[in-house]
Amino acid sequence: MMEFLEFVPLNQYTTFRTGGPARYFCHIRSVADIVRAREFAKEKGLPLFVLGGGSNLLVSDSGINAVVAKMEIMGRKFREVDHRFSEFIVGAGENWDDAVALCVSKGLYGIENLSGIPGTVGAAPVQNIGAYGTEIRETLARVNVFDLETGEEKILNNEECKFSYRNSIFKTKEGKRYVIVGVTLLLDSQGRVNIGYKDLKERFKDSYSKDVSLNDLRSAVLDIRKNKLPDIRECGTAGSFFKNPIIPAKKFAELNEKYPDMPNFPLPNGDVKIPLAWILDNVCGLKGFQDGPVGLYKTQPLALINLGTASSQDVLNLVARIKDIVREKTGILIEEEVIIV
Ligand code: NAP
Repeated sequence: MMEFLEFVPLNQYTTFRTGGPARYFCHIRSVADIVRAREFAKEKGLPLFVLGGGSNLLVSDSGINAVVAKMEIMGRKFREVDHRFSEFIVGAGENWDDAVALCVSKGLYGIENLSGIPGTVGAAPVQNIGAYGTEIRETLARVNVFDLETGEEKILNNEECKFSYRNSIFKTKEGKRYVIVGVTLLLDSQGRVNIGYKDLKERFKDSYSKDVSLNDLRSAVLDIRKNKLPDIRECGTAGSFFKNPIIPAKKFAELNEKYPDMPNFPLPNGDVKIPLAWILDNVCGLKGFQDGPVGLYKTQPLALINLGTASSQDVLNLVARIKDIVREKTGILIEEEVIIV
């Protein structure tokens, strides 16, 4: 029988290790559990809030006045499509990096550059996770969802997920009705590793990509991440707190006059993506900045960290301060990547 607990502290379920209680809390292990949680939420007149690994979330100190459902739908299945491609059908509650490790061990190419990203499989399409030159949208065939409005299961194909940089339909008002219950990826048994991203290029500068194995690639990504990003077992964090800003070419030209060294990546539509970490370090002088129990991580300022005793309000105060400084110095309005509730 499914249990609905009351006033469950959520700091134990978020990697920031902050946040107040959930009014109600339950574990979701099947679609039938979602149906029950939806009914319960209706009875109580509260919204249903689905929680994954809590690794991209900042929960307010007053908690969430909702039925918080922790996604724990499991399942990992491979299906050969032809002599080359296989589908990997995986439950939303599975750990993302365990799923990547499994594919690598089976010699299937496509998600190895996404090694080491914390969180669940179900959360991966929500922000179209991306790292080291790969995004999940490149291998995602479809997403199985439960529609909270109609109470029915449904399949969304890649196009219907409306993926863009760190974004998808699931982050929009239109997509809020969907609970992701499973994901199907299309993986290639005869692929080749992608070592085009600068950190990987540097790591494998003496190798041809055909000589780099899936295992080598995964180990390299895990190692690069370890050296740059905070370890969620050691301090509270949700990884990159902000999105890297994408600005019009004209705006970039103005900034570039003032900051000729500013790294920049022109996009096909003419806009320019700027590494926010560079701005925080070099324009805003925030390298290693700390304010009481919160701060910017020393080797990756995009990652805000909880040094042990921070509240969510402490994090929010720092966020507001960083946004103001970036706006004053560059005129850029930066946006959070982390979901704030
Ligand atoms: P980085 O490599 O220093 O890159 C900083 C920024 O430059 C990112 O916006 C990155 O875009 C962009 N960039 C670099 N090379 C590019 C290229 N050849 N073409 C277009 N854009 C390029 O960043 P990092 O902090 O060390 O992170 C490494 C990778 O992991 C990045 O892909 C980053 O997005 C990802 N990551 C994601 C999270 C998260 O929480 N979501 C956390 C840490 C790292 P992209 O972002 O498009 O790569």
